Amino acid sequence: MKDYLHLTMEELHTAYVEREVTPLEVVKLCLEACKKDTNNIFEYLCEKEAISEAEGLIEPEEDNVFWGVPYCLKDNFSTKGIPTTGSSNILADYVPVFDAEVYHRLKEKHAILIGKTTLDELAMGGTGTSGHLGKTFNPYDPSHEHMIGGSSCGSCAAVAAGLVPFAIGSDTGDSVRKPASYGGLVGFKPTWSRISRYGLFPFAPSLDHVAYFTRSVKDAASLTTLLSGRDEKDATSSEQPVKKYNTLLGGSIKGLKIAVIDEILKSITDHDVLAAFDKTCEILRSKGAIVSRVHMDAELLRAIYPTYIIISCAEATSNNANLDGLKFGPRESGNTYEDIVTNTRTKGFSTLIKRRFVIGGYSLLKENQQDLFIRAQRCRHLIVDAFNKLFDSYDLVYLPASPSCAPRFDEKNDNLSDLYLLSDNYLAFANFGGYPSLTLPIGFKGNLPFGGNFTGRIFEEETVLNVSHVLMDEMPYYNLYYKEEVK
Ligand code: GLN
Repeated sequence: MKDYLHLTMEELHTAYVEREVTPLEVVKLCLEACKKDTNNIFEYLCEKEAISEAEGLIEPEEDNVFWGVPYCLKDNFSTKGIPTTGSSNILADYVPVFDAEVYHRLKEKHAILIGKTTLDELAMGGTGTSGHLGKTFNPYDPSHEHMIGGSSCGSCAAVAAGLVPFAIGSDTGDSVRKPASYGGLVGFKPTWSRISRYGLFPFAPSLDHVAYFTRSVKDAASLTTLLSGRDEKDATSSEQPVKKYNTLLGGSIKGLKIAVIDEILKSITDHDVLAAFDKTCEILRSKGAIVSRVHMDAELLRAIYPTYIIISCAEATSNNANLDGLKFGPRESGNTYEDIVTNTRTKGFSTLIKRRFVIGGYSLLKENQQDLFIRAQRCRHLIVDAFNKLFDSYDLVYLPASPSCAPRFDEKNDNLSDLYLLSDNYLAFANFGGYPSLTLPIGFKGNLPFGGNFTGRIFEEETVLNVSHVLMDEMPYYNLYYKEEVK
């Protein structure tokens, strides 16, 4: 039988329409493969649900590319009747009573949910190691020494391992775009507010975005078309009209102005990354784009990470106050209300989360607010102003998405450090400004892939998608997933 599991969504759709294969056959293959997973991808495999959904899909819908396509959801999206843990012990037995809007829209199109995927606990973190099920591994390294990155580790690994053609994640600082680099995938977050976050567990709502992993830009564009648009259930969702992004690909990039920020590029020392990046700049130039080195205030760029930490931890501390063991999730015993809450939260959260709540609580203390929280907000404003100014003259920012390929587990942790202060953390600028931002594979270091990243003006999804599509077309990285012989 043809290798249906390893098709992109668009290719699988063609196979369905030509009646080569049925959703039930594909779902069975998919579940079989998922059960053999050794990368710790799943919180919950939706076996019964997926089979029963697939059994009902008989007549292919020609104009619906999602019909019968298996996919995964990060386990911080609410799914009615299906356990949703946020990879945290504090929600270990939580079963939501409503569906996230993203899940609802995919269900309406008859996409088939195969599994809920692991994450760094409550989406905080970047290593894919802090969830209650432990480390999630990079499929490109069968010896399990390298991370896939986080926080959307399971969703990224599911697509990179060739289990599903797409998976949904969330991106507050870079949680889809950085792992996408380590997994050789397209990772796209559209403009803040473009997609409803109803039913996505909030981490830091002023920065949280729905985002996704695919193996082609076209599939990312199709998801953007489906998921974008106003949702009355999310007051922050945008009224801006939605375009058919999947039909807007392949146009000329002649005259497109692309800025490469010198201060960030200089903070990257990996020769393989730099060589591959230069090569892609040459491709862009050969297609008529104008790629220029630009300068930005280095102090301001170095402030991205500390600013991100203060704002995201403060928002997270406040948003997660509802996880007290009283309303949902496991409850520890105690004689008083305070005791119950203290015992539940002490046991329920890992060290990483507690550290972040301490930072958040400290910066929100009345006597510290001015110095920490308000100052971070001002900093955010200055950073966004500087990028908006850049976008007055340039259509896009283009840079390596990560300083290198996936680090080994013993090389990197989520403690604050200034080792890779710029190169490893700059992607959060796109969350500060809400800009659409896309990572795509641009090279390999040994057996491990790494990516480049385009970021554009708000609500200009089509520019970001189109330039990525054009570049992808010139490289051998379309529909990349782990296979033994990959180089
Ligand atoms: N790595 C970042 C953090 O540690 C980003 C997390 C995210 O985008 N959810 O918070």
